[in-house]
Amino acid sequence: MKQVEHIGIAVRNFSEANKLYSKLLGAGPYKTESVESEGVNTSFFRVGGSKIELLEATSEDSAIARFIEKKGEGIHHIAFEVDDIVAEMERLKQEGFVLLSDAPKKGADNKLVCFVHPKSANGVLVELTQEIKEVEE
Ligand code: ZN
Repeated sequence: MKQVEHIGIAVRNFSEANKLYSKLLGAGPYKTESVESEGVNTSFFRVGGSKIELLEATSEDSAIARFIEKKGEGIHHIAFEVDDIVAEMERLKQEGFVLLSDAPKKGADNKLVCFVHPKSANGVLVELTQEIKEVEE
């Protein structure tokens, strides 16, 4: 794995959290994006070579809504950047980690993503991210 690509934080109130994190980090989000398949609004802040992702649930049955209900607001996941997500998923499976999907999914911020079950990683939800390279035609 190459680096911590971002840290995901579950928030109740997206617009207030965006204002707060803009103040905290000294700059606003460079991108906000809805991921309908996951039932979330996301925003991304740059912090040096890494990022902070804020996540707000847009429906009651989204994973973020369930997380906040159980644990309250706070750090939701840590995302690691990888070059080849399929190979990395295979490596982790061989090592006995439980993955939340069999194939990478399209996530926010132009990424292919896959999550590792927190039970396999000391209570931390781990995200693998691989940038989607633009296909040249
Ligand atoms: Zn993420």
